[in-house]
Amino acid sequence: MDYDVLILGGGIIGCAAAYELSKYSLNIALIERDYDIADDVALFNSTIVYDGLECNDSLMSKLEIMGNSLIRDMAQKFNVKLKEYNSMIIAEDENCQNKLIEIYNEKKDIIDNIYLLDGNDALKIEHALSNKVKKVLYSKNTLIIEPYDLALAYGEIAFDNGVNFKLEEEVLDIQRMSKGFRVITNKNKFTCNMVLNTTPGKNYSIGKSDRLNKNRENQKYFLLNNKVKKKFDSIITFIKEDGEQICMSPTIEGNSAVYIKSAFDISYEDAFNEIIKFNNLVKEENISQFYEIPFYNDTLIIDDSFMESGYISVNGKSYAQVTITPAIAKIVCETIVNNLNCVLKKDFIDKRREFYKFRDLCNNDRKKIIKLNKSYGKMVCYCNKITEGEIIDAIRRPLGARTLEGVRRRTGITFGDCMGARCLNKVIKILAREMNKDMTDIVRESGDSKLILGRIKEFNDM
Ligand SMILES: Cc1cc2nc3c(=O)[nH]c(=O)nc-3n(C[C@H](O)[C@H](O)[C@H](O)COP(=O)(O)OP(=O)(O)OC[C@H]3O[C@@H](n4cnc5c(N)ncnc54)[C@H](O)[C@@H]3O)c2cc1C
Repeated sequence: MDYDVLILGGGIIGCAAAYELSKYSLNIALIERDYDIADDVALFNSTIVYDGLECNDSLMSKLEIMGNSLIRDMAQKFNVKLKEYNSMIIAEDENCQNKLIEIYNEKKDIIDNIYLLDGNDALKIEHALSNKVKKVLYSKNTLIIEPYDLALAYGEIAFDNGVNFKLEEEVLDIQRMSKGFRVITNKNKFTCNMVLNTTPGKNYSIGKSDRLNKNRENQKYFLLNNKVKKKFDSIITFIKEDGEQICMSPTIEGNSAVYIKSAFDISYEDAFNEIIKFNNLVKEENISQFYEIPFYNDTLIIDDSFMESGYISVNGKSYAQVTITPAIAKIVCETIVNNLNCVLKKDFIDKRREFYKFRDLCNNDRKKIIKLNKSYGKMVCYCNKITEGEIIDAIRRPLGARTLEGVRRRTGITFGDCMGARCLNKVIKILAREMNKDMTDIVRESGDSKLILGRIKEFNDM
């Protein structure tokens, strides 16, 4: 066999499973069709870690509770930024109020640190709320985390512990053999004892699952700058009778994110009007980014119905996938390890290689680093204070960036107020130099997303 385990898909779940499995004496490879791992993890480097309270499905709720507890240890171990933010689910009318009472009664014995508050009591905790609030479900369990760093840490540590990452390789089929599996890609054929499939592939010969309960709605996403006059100190979700939800959440960087989830495809103007109903001090000039993306609320299925022969798959997409990832990775790893003859490695390195984030350092530390490596003295992004040294490190580190998106997610470049207007060309130039490529060959995130289409004048240098 080429491998003991083949992991298909390098999203956050694939990378987390690779990390858990790399603790064991196994020969593992991960196959990802894109240039980089975990490139769909979030729109920016800040996501909510839920606690199961907002979730209707009991299995998903349990996974969130387990993930919420595990993710704290992961963040500490991997040096990933995490901030505690309480959350409030808010009802402003009679029907929604009854819904909150129902949820509270259902979950109060399952989830610790949750409370049902009257509007007045909630106002004492969260001063920015309006006095229309009738009832509040209050939780002290929720967090905000940097999902890019979490996903990359999982991948990089797995790589450092021997997992073979095969990027830019697409799985075309998975076939069962008399013993083990054959995985066919656009470049190779591999044999293995076990397959963990985290890709949504529908045409594979094995594991066609019709059990997936797809639940998709529309979502409008606003990232607000930190000039908004009124800010909430908690993660606030307003629920409405028709199922629409507006969530306002602080981000790790101190801005606010707002999403509106609705069964209908509401316009940008209607979405913005909904926001100002709840926070009348938000102005249009406060919007730094706007996205329209589906709201995924599938019940995630860990399908082990072919486990006897060695095939396990994780199907579905959820708005809380970052939260549940550590739980899924642990469950899947336990199942796989119990089916293979393996032991824990003695030389497992449970640490991400260090790197510097200049904006988080004091001047003394900055000076010391610049003395060792002058590229840290060259500022590339003035908005977020990101240096050339950080970009070079992002490209050279294990599983390093090869695209603009890759550099962006590893360093935070182009996330500032100018959104790349002042630094984009400099990043492309560094990428080209480091990879020994032409600037016209550098892509944003995939093969067909070239950033520079061609030269307009034939100078020797660009
Ligand atoms: C805007 C947004 C906000 C979010 N906010 C939160 C939040 O606040 N809290 C939270 O907990 N979660 C949040 N999430 C959810 C979560 O981040 C994502 O759903 C999650 O990253 C998906 O991870 P995954 O690994 O399961 O799936 P994917 O990232 O989809 O992984 C599947 C991987 O398989 C690869 N692949 C597919 N087909 C093939 C093939 N044939 N061959 C090889 N590779 C293949 C894909 O390229 C992909 O990398 C958010 C998501 C989004 C988009």
